[in-house]
Amino acid sequence: MSDIEIARKAKKKPIQEIGAKLGIPTEHLLPFGHDKAKVSEAFIKSLAKNKNGHLILVTAINPTPAGEGKTTTTVGLGDGLNAIGKKAAICIREASLGPNFGMKGGAAGGGYAQVVPMEDMNLHFTGDFHAITAAHNLLAAMLDNHIYWGNELDIDIRRIPYRRVMDMNDRALRETVVNLGGVANGFPRETGFDITVASEVMAILCLATDLRDLEKRLGDIIVAYRRDRSPVYARDLKADGAMTVLLQQAMQPNLVQTLENNPAFVHGGPFANIAHGCNSVVATTTALKLADYVVTEAGFGADLGAEKFFDIKCRKAGLKPEAVVIVATVRAMKMNGGVAKADLGTENVAAVKKGCANLGQHIENVKQFGVPAVVAINHFVSDTDAEVQAIKDYVGSQGSEAVLCKHWAHGSKGTEDLARKVVSIVESGSAQFAPLYLDDMPLFEKIETIAKRIYRADEVLADKKIRDQLKQWEEQGYGNLPVCMAKTQYSFTTDPNRRGAPRGHSLPVREVRLSAGAGFIVVICGEIMTMPGLPRVPSAESIRINRDGLIDGLF
Ligand code: ADP
Ligand code: MG
Repeated sequence: MSDIEIARKAKKKPIQEIGAKLGIPTEHLLPFGHDKAKVSEAFIKSLAKNKNGHLILVTAINPTPAGEGKTTTTVGLGDGLNAIGKKAAICIREASLGPNFGMKGGAAGGGYAQVVPMEDMNLHFTGDFHAITAAHNLLAAMLDNHIYWGNELDIDIRRIPYRRVMDMNDRALRETVVNLGGVANGFPRETGFDITVASEVMAILCLATDLRDLEKRLGDIIVAYRRDRSPVYARDLKADGAMTVLLQQAMQPNLVQTLENNPAFVHGGPFANIAHGCNSVVATTTALKLADYVVTEAGFGADLGAEKFFDIKCRKAGLKPEAVVIVATVRAMKMNGGVAKADLGTENVAAVKKGCANLGQHIENVKQFGVPAVVAINHFVSDTDAEVQAIKDYVGSQGSEAVLCKHWAHGSKGTEDLARKVVSIVESGSAQFAPLYLDDMPLFEKIETIAKRIYRADEVLADKKIRDQLKQWEEQGYGNLPVCMAKTQYSFTTDPNRRGAPRGHSLPVREVRLSAGAGFIVVICGEIMTMPGLPRVPSAESIRINRDGLIDGLF
């Protein structure tokens, strides 16, 4: 059965019943239909004195083109924890429309470990991304309007980093010219569009702790520079108030359910390259106040996703993760061991063993943050016992444990062992989380620390221009920000083809950007696409409503 067929057969409960499992009174659930609701801001405020539950991060090895099943495992572990009698909730990201109409593959998990309603989750959902798009573009409109009416702020129209956004894969909009058509339309200038998940407003919504913090961060967005290179902020354009109004509803986290009727918060979805790639702080902190165990996911592999989860999200929100689950698959180990995608179906224990070096480096890395790690082997039907055993043996030799998980095929029954292992780690109280570097470390040293300790690069290569820019930001008071690394997800290096655990490489930094509102410095290493395109045959071509009124082709 396909993911969507399984999802359609789900016996969903009314969202009020799901909220009741967490003690959310009906009047504090703002329903969108019968199976989705936002949790009210007033209720969230009332939880401040509650004790926090335990936070578990699900991350993965360097992904291969198949997708390793982080979301599927997050859902499976949440259900597994509930099945062994714990009060657990999961927190994951919302899906972007663009990729759903490009390449197949939803964002709601898979098999018998899914979040429903999956069609809604992968389409308009509760409208959060539309609100973010509107808020982002309001600021862009106010910026061009300000210039049109005389440019009192003296904005240099050649130096406007702030672009427009849309939640669609549309390469035609990557580079555009605006204000064409003569005097009445303003001053022509080059700009372009990014996909909504790449918007700084998205990153801000996901890191803001409440509406007040949201408004402050929106005001801090740098939209342009003057001729003397001094920054012009959204606050200078008086846009922060109206942007916050557009985002008021979107700031409230969305509650849905898993196939097994357990609570799932689905909120926010920043890019995992030029942003930090985790669901919202508000959703995670709310879930921690309501559940004993909260399982969450970070985008990409652990070198990017987990590092940013720890160094950006946990640092800023004061979160203390107590266990990390590293998802690995036999297929991905084989690919890391040099097997081509077409040959993944054939048993190859030697390649699995070889590819385990990648897993080993992620295990070591996670331990550097003071959080114990367990490996979840996400089982595919093509995996052989010998291949699974090879991973278990390897992980055992690294002083960790690998647990075979069959949630994709069997739901919570397939993750009860993993759930028990996670509980025993948490109950051992051995976690002592600390970010990798301190706030006051110079910016370039922060980049070096990540490059050397996480990627195992020998050095960071950066032009004088880049180093000077970092120094200038330090002088302007931005030196205490964390860095947000943007590089390929497929390798520890900046070369997507170098799998395994490469040594003897260096990290070239191409560009640095200041996301002053989100509160991080983006460090771009290699080509990073902020407006994806559609493939030759986009999945949109086969998406339609069938004769029964159901959506076909989405997944
Ligand atoms: P990630 O979050 O790491 O990107 P997902 O959990 O979204 O990965 O899974 C990606 C795709 O792989 C989904 O379509 C899912 O149905 C599929 N998938 C995940 N685990 C399995 C499995 N064990 N067997 C078969 N397909 C799987
Ligand atoms: Mg995912």
